[in-house]
Amino acid sequence: MKLVDSHCHLDDEKFDADREATIARAREAGVERMMAIGTGDGPPDLEAALRLARRHAFIYATIGVHPHDAAKATPETFDCLSELAREPKVLAIGEIGLDDHYDFSPHDVQRRVFRQQIELAAGARKPIVIHTREAWDETLTLIREHGLPFGGIMHCFTGGAKEADQALELGFHLSFGGMLTFPKADDIRQAATRTPEDRLLIETDSPYLAPVPHRGKRNEPAFLAETARRLAELRGVAPEDIARLTTSNFDRLFGLG
Ligand SMILES: [Zn+2]
Ligand SMILES: [Zn+2]
Repeated sequence: MKLVDSHCHLDDEKFDADREATIARAREAGVERMMAIGTGDGPPDLEAALRLARRHAFIYATIGVHPHDAAKATPETFDCLSELAREPKVLAIGEIGLDDHYDFSPHDVQRRVFRQQIELAAGARKPIVIHTREAWDETLTLIREHGLPFGGIMHCFTGGAKEADQALELGFHLSFGGMLTFPKADDIRQAATRTPEDRLLIETDSPYLAPVPHRGKRNEPAFLAETARRLAELRGVAPEDIARLTTSNFDRLFGLG
């Protein structure tokens, strides 16, 4: 199987002790390419993922300010993001969005920083990677206001059938992670079953949310095959079909290959 992990936090400190070994294990497990998410600890450091992408041909990067870090964004942050967006290995602006669960940054600041980054992505002609938690309707409203001219990913999709249909109608790809394998996640499995094959992606969101049978442990890209297998089972296809589809969807969305 040749898999693409569309969302992992390889810069996370949980990988400090064995980052290169983790990347090597991923490759051995068939994860040929990885999208390193570059939100890191937030501004002023915006290159957390790009540093890894510069070291490895098969790692791509995003740049962006996570909603948790929205309060750290300054005018310099946006200048720097615009500049970094020109780097060929920066494929998307993300993860950006709204998180009303933790509320680490004030409500109105999250919305302003999200808007500014949607506009920045459009200017840079890049897709966006969305993180949304307990703010679904408002996230969609903001996207509708701006449109989705270069496409986007709903990362770690946790909605059900209704939310899937709404996001698909806007033009999003849905990326499914380890939660797809959790016993109680029937809603997510319903969403994954109805997503058209040309909009499917898979991810680990490492080091978070490891799939069964690794649940509760540190997640890593090598575990992506578990999610691919579960998705294949749900859709009544072979894991190789899921690998092929999700890889070609990734390439098409980002103009690769
Ligand atoms: Zn997220
Ligand atoms: Zn993430």
